[in-house]
Amino acid sequence: MKFNLTKEQTLIQRTAREFAEKTVAPLVDNIEAEHHIPMELFTKAAELGLLSIPFAEEYGGAEGGYDGYVLALEQIGKVSSSVSMAIMAHVLGMSIIDTFGTNEQKQMALPPGCRGEHLTSFAFTEPVTGSDPKQITSTGKREGDYYVLNGTKRFITNAAYPGFMGVVVREVDSGQLTTFMIDKRLEGYTTSEPWEKIAMNGGQLLDLYFKDYKIPVENMMGKVGDGFHHLEAGVGYGKLGISAFCLGLAEAAYEASLEYVTQKTHRDKPIVKFQAIQLMIAEMYQKLEAARLILYKAATDANVNSKTNQAHFARDCAMTKDFVSNTAREIVGLCMDIHGSYGLMKDYKVERMYRESIMMPQIEGVRHIQKIIVANSILADYK
Ligand SMILES: Cc1cc2nc3c(=O)[nH]c(=O)nc-3n(C[C@H](O)[C@H](O)[C@H](O)COP(=O)(O)OP(=O)(O)OC[C@H]3O[C@@H](n4cnc5c(N)ncnc54)[C@H](O)[C@@H]3O)c2cc1C
Repeated sequence: MKFNLTKEQTLIQRTAREFAEKTVAPLVDNIEAEHHIPMELFTKAAELGLLSIPFAEEYGGAEGGYDGYVLALEQIGKVSSSVSMAIMAHVLGMSIIDTFGTNEQKQMALPPGCRGEHLTSFAFTEPVTGSDPKQITSTGKREGDYYVLNGTKRFITNAAYPGFMGVVVREVDSGQLTTFMIDKRLEGYTTSEPWEKIAMNGGQLLDLYFKDYKIPVENMMGKVGDGFHHLEAGVGYGKLGISAFCLGLAEAAYEASLEYVTQKTHRDKPIVKFQAIQLMIAEMYQKLEAARLILYKAATDANVNSKTNQAHFARDCAMTKDFVSNTAREIVGLCMDIHGSYGLMKDYKVERMYRESIMMPQIEGVRHIQKIIVANSILADYK
């Protein structure tokens, strides 16, 4: 059992921290006000290797594993949830292609994704469901050498950027879920205006409308009926990423709390002298440490399990995402309590962090569903 970072991991962490502090931090207010992250920011991240950490060198990846990836996203999450969300969705989409795509699909999608020329998306949610893929109603109907897609996808991250997108639909002849790779630069489907949401404005969410949208048969990922498997194992990558930037968000709240309690005074003494404040600081620290341990372990195991034991990978990612996102929400809540009324003011970072923290348990699968995934896995092993 080792708890120390390797030299390479320390380097990834430092690179991401510097990128977050020097390049992202000055843009955060603009990104949130303008509801847009400039593509150049991702190109810069890619130049530093931050979009390609888990992927193989032959595709332009850094071969830093999913443990390296979460270390980087944790640092970026300390500064911007919007930027982290976009990177998370990109690495999710790229990881699905890396794990399940043909050689040709990998050659097509991974190198430009690693270079930051593309931002990948993965679309499964629909107006009727996000949690229950069995209710997916968009369809793909084979017509000769093409498939014709129809239906609506909802809340899709990175939909406005160039790049590839995995879309899960119901294949008409078999009735089974199937994934197709779509090039977002091609015309033929339409998108909504971005949704107005409570926080993370920079990470736009669009709906996509497919009406008789034709794509070649070769754009199918895997085979007919693999869609559910792609979804189940694939969103595990997303859950790791969300957990990483939730941990960063929680750390930022913890650090903001320490700063506030040592500066804010009551009767000429800093409020950190109150035992009630000390108890909250201790609770935050304890929760942070627990969240970090569960995440780092899941990310280290993911390097192997994501390829060889996808049932355990899905379980570990569900458990981690549920725990870390909820813990982040609790830690940011404590930070808000510590700030009193000042925390409600836009002059203080915790106001934004609080709005972001309540989003986290809902993204990439709600809390109940994570627990159901974990329970199903435990019971399957128990038989
Ligand atoms: C910032 C953000 C980014 C997103 N990015 C993407 C993206 O890139 N691609 C994408 O496809 N989607 C994306 N989504 C959508 C997101 O993944 C879904 O909204 C999420 O999975 C939850 O689905 P839902 O909102 O339809 O909730 P529902 O499935 O309607 O769930 C609502 C409630 O019902 C409960 N429930 C539902 N089914 C069950 C069940 N079987 N058992 C027990 N309880 C149940 C849930 O626990 C929850 O409490 C994004 C959402 C956000 C907010």
